[in-house]
Amino acid sequence: MANSSTVTETKPGIAPHKETKPMLKIWIDGQLVDEDQAKVSVFDHGLLYGDGVFEGIRVYNHRILKLDSHLKRMYRSCDRIFLKPSYTIEEIEQATRQTVKVNKLKDAYIRMVFTRGFGDLGLDPRKCPRPCHIIIADKIQLYPPELYATGIPVVVAERPRLPIKCLDPSVKSLNYLNNIMAKIEAIEAGVLEAIMLNLDGFVSECTGDNLFMIKDGKIYTPPLSAGLLGGITRQWVIDDIGPDCGYPVTEKNLRIEEVMDADEVFLTGSGAEVIGVNKIDEKVMSEGKTGPITAKLIAEFKRRVAENAPED
Ligand code: PMP
Repeated sequence: MANSSTVTETKPGIAPHKETKPMLKIWIDGQLVDEDQAKVSVFDHGLLYGDGVFEGIRVYNHRILKLDSHLKRMYRSCDRIFLKPSYTIEEIEQATRQTVKVNKLKDAYIRMVFTRGFGDLGLDPRKCPRPCHIIIADKIQLYPPELYATGIPVVVAERPRLPIKCLDPSVKSLNYLNNIMAKIEAIEAGVLEAIMLNLDGFVSECTGDNLFMIKDGKIYTPPLSAGLLGGITRQWVIDDIGPDCGYPVTEKNLRIEEVMDADEVFLTGSGAEVIGVNKIDEKVMSEGKTGPITAKLIAEFKRRVAENAPED
C-alpha cells in the first residue's frame, strides 16, 4: 500500500518518526523520552512471547475516561499472569497524567503496556529480572462520524474465542493473535469487525469490542463466563448509560441466531465507543442502519464524554 507521508531514517528496529507529526514523549520505566529514543530490548518477553498486559484508554477534553477502572483492570491482569509491576497503581496514574500533559494532548488515546521485561530466549519468566512499563499518549484517529449514523457491517468469525481455561479473555494480555486471526477474517470479508463465538457456540465478543443486542426494548449482553474481556465501556453501559436511558441490561448467554434475530445490535469499546451494527454476515440488521435505541445510547455516551468525562 502506498504511503505518502515523509519519514526520517532511523536505526533498525526503531519506528520511523513521521515529520508531519510532533515528536511524542514516551514514558518508559520512569523516564519521559523522545519517541525515537523509546526502546525495548529484543530479548523482551513481551516481544518474544506476548508475555505482558496492556490497556487502551481515551482522553476527552483533558479528562482521562475511566482511568481508575482501566488502572484496576491493568493491575488485575498483572496479577492473573503473575507479573509484579515495579510501580504502584498511584505512581502509574501520575505517570499517565504526566504523559498526556507533557504531550499537550486535549483528546488522545493512551496505550499502557507492561511486559515481563528482558530475559533469555527461553520461556522462563523467572529469567526476566524486571518488568518493562510503557505509557504512550498519542492523537486519536476517530472513526468517521457517518459510521455512528449508519452503523457498521460485521461477520461471524469461523475462529472461536480462546476458552477461559486456556487463556482467560478477561486478562488483557499482549497475546492478541486469537483476535487478530478473527480480525483477518473480517478484513477478508471487507468489514471492520467479527463476532467471535466460544467453544460452546455462544457469542463471546468481537475482536476488539464487546457486543450487545436489543430485543423488545431490553438490552442483553453475554456474561463474563462466556469468555470475554470485561470491557470498561461495557460496564459503563450496563451500570449507567443503559439504565439511565430507560433500558436495563441483562447478562445472558446468547446464540448467534438470537443476535441475528434482535431488533438492534451494537458494540462497545474504548476505541469504537458505542457503535451500531447494520449487518451480520448477509443478514441486514435494524433496516441497515443504527437502530433507534442504539442512537439514543450513542448520543448519551457522547454527551457524557464531551464535557466532564468521568475518571472513576
Ligand atoms: N474486547 C476486546 C477483545 C477488546 O480488545 C476490547 C478493547 N479493549 C474490548 C472488548 C472493549 O473493552 P473496553 O471497553 O475496556 O475498551
